[in-house]
Amino acid sequence: MKTIQHWINGAETAPATGSRLSDVTNPATGKVTSQVALASAATVNDAVAAATAAFPLWRDTSLAKRVQILFRFRELLNARKPELAAIITAEHGKVLDDALGEISRGQEVVEFACGIPHLLKGGYTENASTKVDVHSVRQPVGPAAIISPFNFPAMVPMWFFPVAIASGNTVVLKPSEKDPTAANWMAELWKEAGLPDGVFNVVHGDKEAVDTLLQHEDIKSVSFVGSTPIAQYVYQQGTATGKRVQALGGAKNHMLVLPDADLDLAADAAVNAGYGAAGERCMAISAIVAVESIADELVAKIAERTRTLRIGDGTRGTDMGPLVTAAHREKVAGYINAGEAAGATMVLDGRNVTPDAEGDGFFLAPTLFDNVTPDMSIYTDEIFGPVLSVVRVPSYDEGLQLINANPYGNGTAIFTNDGGAARRFENEIEVGMVGINVPIPVPMAYYSFGGWKNSLFGDSHAHGAEGVHFFTRGKVVTSRWLDPSHGGINLGFPQNS
Ligand code: NAD
Repeated sequence: MKTIQHWINGAETAPATGSRLSDVTNPATGKVTSQVALASAATVNDAVAAATAAFPLWRDTSLAKRVQILFRFRELLNARKPELAAIITAEHGKVLDDALGEISRGQEVVEFACGIPHLLKGGYTENASTKVDVHSVRQPVGPAAIISPFNFPAMVPMWFFPVAIASGNTVVLKPSEKDPTAANWMAELWKEAGLPDGVFNVVHGDKEAVDTLLQHEDIKSVSFVGSTPIAQYVYQQGTATGKRVQALGGAKNHMLVLPDADLDLAADAAVNAGYGAAGERCMAISAIVAVESIADELVAKIAERTRTLRIGDGTRGTDMGPLVTAAHREKVAGYINAGEAAGATMVLDGRNVTPDAEGDGFFLAPTLFDNVTPDMSIYTDEIFGPVLSVVRVPSYDEGLQLINANPYGNGTAIFTNDGGAARRFENEIEVGMVGINVPIPVPMAYYSFGGWKNSLFGDSHAHGAEGVHFFTRGKVVTSRWLDPSHGGINLGFPQNS
């Protein structure tokens, strides 16, 4: 059976003898397809050493050359994305179209980073004081660690590494051990694009690898995406060792539907955003907040559409694939049991499903609960599966209060045809990414992606201007070219003249 190796200093690197291994499974068939090496501290140290050694040369490589390599990476990625999509579907389980979609959204960040010369331009002030000029530059921070989750094995790393690399940093990526192959595929693509060895490295692993990165003094920044408890831990550990850290956590995304909304549009959106990628998206809608007067009609429309979905192997033209692992499938099924036991109205029960797939995959069909109350675990917890909960509220105000009281603040959406209500929501909601009649408001690459509250630890969101800021440090230079008239001793604090 194939062992997925690390990628260090421009080449696949066999795991040290005696390394721990972890199974990688095709979730649609339930079959173990390969094993991934879990890096020891020594292997992580090798990767950091490669990134550290490559940094001085890459940092001083001209912007023109760096950007040429980025453009080549973009062209290769664009031409070969079906290969990467097939890898994602085989290890994550999401359907092929969805895998292509995640690559395209990641590619947008590569395209954004191709404009790095413009983004790194500093300011210049002539004659700030007599014959004294001031200018500012932004310089790379140093070797960056990127630690990513299973649910977007291509897009989430691409939220960070194009900007990090374009800005002159080197990278050690630690992808999820559940779907590790996409990272190696992207590493090979960088090599083909002409990136010098050591600038982009991949170590596979689990907590041991992450802890080694967090403690390593040569790692200068950490970009993490994953569940909230781990995000908080990474933020605390990383900042304690003096690194800058952006740690994006979990989510519970609400969609508020007002009585004047187009209910067909809202129902389409709820189904797409609730069940797409089997609910394993950080921007998935998991709670529909329906104003009571339209709730019956909305639930009926969601149920009618959901019944038409085809569940099965993502390579067979289905709408929804399996959950990522057997354990995760059991966890999600446990939440469905808990919702039923707590007294929520089960409109659609996804526990019995006959998928279009061979073997013993980790499938659940879409589940829809109505009359969910905020004390039930199907409401309080991030389920990360194809389970939609409808919470009924009397009016906009109670809906707003519910969403703002939630500890997560990643994404949200309002469905309404009332511009005033939409504008009020935009102003009053305490969530980082807001959609108005748009269910999954993932920002374009030139804006920044990130939530509020327990959905983000740190103050920098991913990509866009905040991403460039995160991966660079500002420096301000005050200069005066020698002029005899400025000589003489004066110990006073410099003042402008
Ligand atoms: P996870 O937290 O289990 O794992 C994320 C990463 O952390 C992986 O690389 C994993 O190997 C590592 N890790 C796991 N346990 C660790 C530990 N104890 N110590 C150190 N590192 C550890 O998350 P996941 O299950 O892979 O991904 C799903 C989660 O990610 C969901 O909560 C989802 O909402 C979140 N997510 C958030 C965003 C966002 O933008 N906010 C985007 C995608 C996913």
